Amino acid sequence: MQTVHSRSALKKCMAPWRDREETLALVPTMGALHAGHMALVQAAKQRADRVAVSIFVNPTQFGPNEDLDAYPRQMAEDRAKLVAAGVDLLWAPTAQEMYPDGFETVIRVPDISQGLCGGTRPGHFDGVATVVCKLLNQLAPDLAVFGEKDYQQLAVIRRMVRDLDMAPQIIAVPTIRDDDGLALSSRNAYLHPEERQRASILPNAMHAAIAAIEAGGDPALALETLKAELGGAGFGPIDYAEIRDADTLAPLAERGADGTGFSGRLLVAAWLGKTRLIDNQPVNVP
Ligand code: AMP
Repeated sequence: MQTVHSRSALKKCMAPWRDREETLALVPTMGALHAGHMALVQAAKQRADRVAVSIFVNPTQFGPNEDLDAYPRQMAEDRAKLVAAGVDLLWAPTAQEMYPDGFETVIRVPDISQGLCGGTRPGHFDGVATVVCKLLNQLAPDLAVFGEKDYQQLAVIRRMVRDLDMAPQIIAVPTIRDDDGLALSSRNAYLHPEERQRASILPNAMHAAIAAIEAGGDPALALETLKAELGGAGFGPIDYAEIRDADTLAPLAERGADGTGFSGRLLVAAWLGKTRLIDNQPVNVP
């Protein structure tokens, strides 16, 4: 695996692949790699001749009081995992390489970025869209792989790629979870052991809410029960717990008003101590 830190080295590394017309898949990450990231790598390997992984803790997607400095960085371990997985290229640019002096362009996907994580993390998705646009331009992959774990992010990227006629195909991989149901996340490392034990209440309570709704229960009531259960288990604040349209992320009309079902997504962000956990699961009412 070649590890490169500059765009000139990146070009040199990819040139022979382009000459041979090999296909390329990109997996963008912020590092601290876990089995969720590696599932994206596997999906990439199945679909392309060459796989590139980027590791860049993107400062523009962190708010002023967020965890940019504390975000876990473990390049040596990450590199070993990527080598073992047969990745061809690790693109690890510096912040100066990505955002040289005078950088000012912002990619904004305003509607899909509104509410949910965009509501509690203003500007977050501008940073995400801008850095992903840059990564796609830098590597020009045939496809790029993202996790459903960050569901709103996936929707923002799909819309950006569609709106700007960007070439890469976007592949989505379902969320990889620990045995107790907690979605894997680099931020789980912040959880104290006792918090980690309690953390699985989040996916389990979401599962219970979905079961109630799919059995004909009132979604608003199910969401209230979910929030009460999380609050009772020591989660808080709860940034949001909402059901949105699975494709557009538009708020759903009250079910029952017109008697129709929906293909939705339950999305939750809640704090447990100093750790912000997010999760999402499908909720379908025929
Ligand atoms: P991150 O390094 O957290 O920015 O995530 C990089 C990519 O990995 C994003 O596309 C995430 O959605 C994806 N990802 C993170 N956690 C998981 C998970 N548990 N299962 C599947 N994909 C994930």
